[in-house]
Amino acid sequence: MKTIRFSAQILGGAYILFLLSLITHFAPYAAGQDSLAEVYNLRYYTHPNFTRIVVDIGVLREYAAGESQTPGQIFVDILQTRLNPIVREEAIPIRCDYINFVRISQKSPSTVRVLAEVEFSRVRRYQIYHVFDPFRVVIDIYPQEPRASSGSIKTPQPAEPAKSGYSMVRQLGLGIKTIVIDPGHGGIDPGCLDSSGQQEKELTLDISLRLKDLLNAHKGLEVILTRETDIHVPLETRTVIANQKRADIFLSIHINAFRDKSRRGIETFFLNFSPDPGVNELAARENATTTKTIGGMEKIIKKIVQNSNVIESRELAEKIQENLVQYLARQYSNINNLGVKGGPFWTLLGSDMPSVLVEVSHLTNAKEAQRLKNAAYRQQIARGIYEGILAYRQSLGKG
Ligand SMILES: [Zn+2]
Repeated sequence: MKTIRFSAQILGGAYILFLLSLITHFAPYAAGQDSLAEVYNLRYYTHPNFTRIVVDIGVLREYAAGESQTPGQIFVDILQTRLNPIVREEAIPIRCDYINFVRISQKSPSTVRVLAEVEFSRVRRYQIYHVFDPFRVVIDIYPQEPRASSGSIKTPQPAEPAKSGYSMVRQLGLGIKTIVIDPGHGGIDPGCLDSSGQQEKELTLDISLRLKDLLNAHKGLEVILTRETDIHVPLETRTVIANQKRADIFLSIHINAFRDKSRRGIETFFLNFSPDPGVNELAARENATTTKTIGGMEKIIKKIVQNSNVIESRELAEKIQENLVQYLARQYSNINNLGVKGGPFWTLLGSDMPSVLVEVSHLTNAKEAQRLKNAAYRQQIARGIYEGILAYRQSLGKG
């Protein structure tokens, strides 16, 4: 099982390395040739506004990309792969003035390198990303000035990353089919407790199962829980499950605990830094079963926030928060909307899809703890989250 993480490293300003790392949690690649995927095709085409190079791999693989200035090179190393013999290692001239040639080669016994030799003075920007079904790595290179003759032709949509303000999910026109729900805690990790013996792990599972039933009744949605019983699932594994199932959204359900027992309400988080000590305290508690510290996570989060999922995660968090508050307020008084926030939650780290964590109520607040004992309240929570997911789905234009 693998999870995808972005990291970026700048060495002397001249060399930038973007590493997409697939961490193998359960089944490390077996040593030997059989674990290698085959790169079976290299395609390229020059549009009036850009050149696209596509490397067909078919199987999810980690890749690392970089550039060098002299000579101008943009390259991608695809790890755990070998070249299918039908693909020839040769420099292919490209018919444009900003790319000299493209070459694919077996760089090492287990790494295939795709390299474009470019005139950086004529390149405005480039981007490297991957697409699934089948898995392929794409390099788009944009010249300083598009060819004048047909400058009106628009670049196809899927290329632009989040910097433009549009997320990958929206640009690719992706809908929502597979939802992974993550009932917080479980097994040896009870989460927070109240004096009457209620345990967070039981409540989160109950609400998740209710949510699953609601979603299952909705045609066209597949719902997967990271746990369906009282078992311990490491935090790091939860998004791995979502990645492996190729989920479209990941939703972790938790019950809040706070030193100030008067604090109550609902808050929804997406992965980010937080300047708020209260949020960091909560995250530290929720992260308790991992050995990673918040400080240690910062570096990783810094890289993750470059990922387009942050925008969509926030959108999803807003829809869930809004609907959850609204649905509870229909039947219960004094529902407190604590809003949508970024927070360094380990369980959201490493996901390859919009991911949020909902703190549905406070077990440390007597009134909310009392309400949580009531199945109707837990059902209403599930209903509110359900409506939020549908609203988000609709906002993608696929509802
Ligand atoms: Zn929790």
